[in-house]
Amino acid sequence: MITESTSLFSTLTRRSFLKTASTVAAAGALGDSLDLLAQGAPKFTAIMIPAGAHPAVRSAAEMLAKKLGLSADAIHDFSGAAALHKNTIVLALKETKGVNATLASSITRDGYAALAENGGLIVCGARPRSLLFAAGETHHWLERTAGTWARNPEFAMRFASHHADHSVAEQVAILGANSFVSQLHASVSLKDEMPEVYAKLSPAVQQRLAAAEADDMKRNAALVKEFHDADVEVFADLPYGNNFSRWSEDLYNAFLAVYPSAKGVPEEHSWERAALCPSDPATWKVFEAYVRECARQSQADGIACTFWDQFGIFCHDERCRKNGLDQFKNELQAAITHYYAAVQPMGKKLHLRTWSSGCPHWLGADYVHAPGYSNFSESHYELWSRVINDTPKEILIQTKVYHSDCEPDPRFSTLLGHCKPHPEIVEYQMVGQTIGRHYFPAATVAYTAWTMKKAHELIGADGGAQISPGGTNQSNYDMYADLLNSVDIFAWRELTWNLNASPAQIYADWAAQMYPAQAAPHMAKAMLLSEEAANLCWSPLGHGSPTNSDFAGDIERRETLLRYTNRYYLPEYAKFLEPTKENIARIVAEKQKCLAGIDGMFAELEAAKPHLSDAQAAEIATRFDWFREFAICNTALDVSLWRFRYLRAQAAMLTTDPAEIKPLAEAFDAVAQHAPKLFHYDAAQKFTCYDVPLGQLRVKPNLGSPLRLMHEIYTRSLAFMEASTGPDYLPKEFIRAEVQINIPTESQRQRM
Ligand SMILES: [Zn+2]
Repeated sequence: MITESTSLFSTLTRRSFLKTASTVAAAGALGDSLDLLAQGAPKFTAIMIPAGAHPAVRSAAEMLAKKLGLSADAIHDFSGAAALHKNTIVLALKETKGVNATLASSITRDGYAALAENGGLIVCGARPRSLLFAAGETHHWLERTAGTWARNPEFAMRFASHHADHSVAEQVAILGANSFVSQLHASVSLKDEMPEVYAKLSPAVQQRLAAAEADDMKRNAALVKEFHDADVEVFADLPYGNNFSRWSEDLYNAFLAVYPSAKGVPEEHSWERAALCPSDPATWKVFEAYVRECARQSQADGIACTFWDQFGIFCHDERCRKNGLDQFKNELQAAITHYYAAVQPMGKKLHLRTWSSGCPHWLGADYVHAPGYSNFSESHYELWSRVINDTPKEILIQTKVYHSDCEPDPRFSTLLGHCKPHPEIVEYQMVGQTIGRHYFPAATVAYTAWTMKKAHELIGADGGAQISPGGTNQSNYDMYADLLNSVDIFAWRELTWNLNASPAQIYADWAAQMYPAQAAPHMAKAMLLSEEAANLCWSPLGHGSPTNSDFAGDIERRETLLRYTNRYYLPEYAKFLEPTKENIARIVAEKQKCLAGIDGMFAELEAAKPHLSDAQAAEIATRFDWFREFAICNTALDVSLWRFRYLRAQAAMLTTDPAEIKPLAEAFDAVAQHAPKLFHYDAAQKFTCYDVPLGQLRVKPNLGSPLRLMHEIYTRSLAFMEASTGPDYLPKEFIRAEVQINIPTESQRQRM
């Protein structure tokens, strides 16, 4: 029997789109009215909350009512002591009268506990938001019929990026998070802070900023209230990086008109910029003024800053060279000290995202320093050492769990655990950027499980875990609604509350929420298989692929990425980059395993299909097919790249290996045959994760073309071979393209 599928996301409705029930159904979104209760479990008909309850408690009751298919009328206030009633869920706080002392004492931090007895339930929260946490994971407690069950978080802080399309209360419930980072836009004019700078703005800009400020303040006030009504804190995102000319070009020009000596002097050939000089006092005056204005207009509880790319105070004038501010670690310490000085007197917190971004390398004529990466640059700890030791300890320091953006399954961070006495937060950037753009299955459950455990050991329970659920370079995308990749959100939530949850159990629990009972075990297995398949697809021999999971355009780019992932300098990884036959065989085996894993996913889908809705089956089949076609091309490219590297090494030794021509020609043919099959879809098809049919997406599903790279690998490999064999030796049936051999010049001929 095919029943309506259930979902942990069932209460979630998309503000901008899912307005009516019929639209929801047409969109293939998961059902609202749910058959949550197993046979024999109590049938709840009422929800009771303390009279005058905090808005978060009321929101929790409304979510529960919706999940249970009850109307708002089923929610009742009670005065006096909390007491169990048959067929009723009673929501209470620790301090509510009548709450059993054992129940209350089982709760730590902002957790909650449930007591089931005589066909009724009392759910007791440490504080109002705790009841939202409970409402977001009813699968853990709703069917209990006896005894108490406590649920306490593993991390004191659970941070999340706010998704503007969903209500804050719903995100709190689903994520179990207690702090958020949100885009609370500020229109900074410096009118009051630095009137001399403001005076240099054109009247048109002055008017535009004044009007925008009024709108921003109003919008921010409403949003901040929504966070506080959900009993959580919110941090406003400062503009990315610290390049003031990017923060506001108008203000930057106006500022330099008044303070010309603050202009920085960049280092020659540096990728980093020097919009402002950190040795000039006016620089910090304008930074502090800007940050203070952002904090004021945002009305948030704190400010979140990101020192990562777009580094704009890398100044090398005489002043900075003399006092050491030409060094990243000193600039960071100065910047963070000044940001803190701006927000601390306002009673606001400072949240800092650390920066370290792949191995140093040349990008055209610019050198990308990538400080904090150890290899040919300072270590992650060295880079942040002055911030750690010489800034106020209450500044929150958040570090990505992995040590490079290149995907997937990257090395573990080298900074986590080293930032004490600051509270540390482990960051999970669960966006499509690092795990496959989310077109395909992009599960990271096993990875999240082991890294979360390790991070917790390093930073402790007083630290935090963070999540940014979303999709990079995607339009119309909603990860919460994604019938495949919502598993990563589910896993993060589960693990931040129970580090010992096993990946297999997480997959199973997630699938049970998302799919009909008979389909669930197969979908759990398919997604489990997809995690390893994606790792093997994008991470040849443990090295990474493009940050945005697309095809590299040429060999140089592909090799930059191998370098960027930066495992090679570690002794255990160097051997994987050796240009040997052994490594070709290793990578062939790895890629065969990837494709076998994808076959396994399809087999599980076939088994699940009779129990899925047509829309679900069609979406999953399409996305699995996208993954398979991409993987066929990508695996052909990776194996061929290793053949190319081998032939290049042979050529350096003035010899070659003609046997490589056949597999290279076969790879060339495979890519030519499969490239046209990438991202086939029916324009009318609607995915759960998009709010429009595929034909109406603003950004069409696409990861570039594998043809150019394949052509280059093939022709350059052929050239290496022909340089030794001459033009006639290699079998004609494997020749796929004209090649350019470097014919010796006349003078070279004579020297021979
Ligand atoms: Zn300078």
